[in-house]
Amino acid sequence: MIIHPFAYFRPDTIEEALGIYDQVMREGKQPVYYGGGSEILTRSRLNDGRFDAVIDLKHIPETRVHGQDRGKLRFGAGLRLTELADRDLWPFMTATADRIADHTTRGHITLGGNLMSTLPYKEALLPLLLADSSTAIIATKGGVENRTLKDLYDHQINLKPGEFLVSVTVDGNEAKAMAFRSYKMTRQDWIDYPLVTIAVAKRDDGSIRAAFSGWASYPFTSSRVNQILSETGKAPQDRAARATRSMPQAALDDIRGSREYREFVTEYTLTNILKELEDAQ
Ligand SMILES: Cc1cc2nc3c(=O)[nH]c(=O)nc-3n(C[C@H](O)[C@H](O)[C@H](O)COP(=O)(O)OP(=O)(O)OC[C@H]3O[C@@H](n4cnc5c(N)ncnc54)[C@H](O)[C@@H]3O)c2cc1C
Repeated sequence: MIIHPFAYFRPDTIEEALGIYDQVMREGKQPVYYGGGSEILTRSRLNDGRFDAVIDLKHIPETRVHGQDRGKLRFGAGLRLTELADRDLWPFMTATADRIADHTTRGHITLGGNLMSTLPYKEALLPLLLADSSTAIIATKGGVENRTLKDLYDHQINLKPGEFLVSVTVDGNEAKAMAFRSYKMTRQDWIDYPLVTIAVAKRDDGSIRAAFSGWASYPFTSSRVNQILSETGKAPQDRAARATRSMPQAALDDIRGSREYREFVTEYTLTNILKELEDAQ
């Protein structure tokens, strides 16, 4: 049950969406941008997060881009996770995003909603954190801006009030050159929030990078951990153990699992991933 009334807007252009946001604010009301609505509506039902108007971004053509253009893979924020999987433009993204929720829910969740989620997991972010060329296209009052994910991401994608995510891009050659593995470990069921999800990319220079969701209250990658994982002269188990001990913050200790259990699962999973990537050479 939705417990409070709110206005629904369905702009067809970026400018219209920004204008509606401004207008609602000027009226002293609280607008929110709306992707699939799964999180917004769940929070509303739980009386968590008051809003007076939702601005549905999915009908703006720029949020629906999905393809390769001038060497870049482009993913609109309004794409549903099932659409990403069906097209499979970037298999690393598919492998990671296709483990979020169940198929029916993935048919509602949008890429933008997952990347901008207020929940800690944001699993679709993991492959993007591992590519140097990941760029976010942002709608701002001054026009559409391209910003590198590295500049924008600090525990979350930091946008100013009123701005929204239009799409993300990654260089096609960089994406293609990565060998990857993406493993989601859950407490018990196949479909659940992650105990830890580990996405690992082996780049064409042989270096290895990993990104984690579920270990902390936000997804992250760590240059120290990546450096240890890339010491390919050393045994996978040794690297995985040292990487797990070198995480930039302690593992969460919550209902999904204790800190010690997360550490154990992470070390075990990293060991297997390293072996798999090296056996595949
Ligand atoms: C049953 C279920 C299981 C789930 N399991 C997982 C899981 O295993 N892993 C995981 O990572 N997540 C999981 N989630 C969380 C889910 O990924 C997020 O709640 C969801 O991604 C939100 O997507 P949405 O399109 O419905 O977003 P919405 O509910 O529409 O929006 C979510 C947030 O993002 C903002 N937003 C949306 N689009 C944009 C945009 N383009 N620009 C700026 N801000 C925007 C909204 O204002 C809101 O704050 C699960 C959710 C459900 C319901």
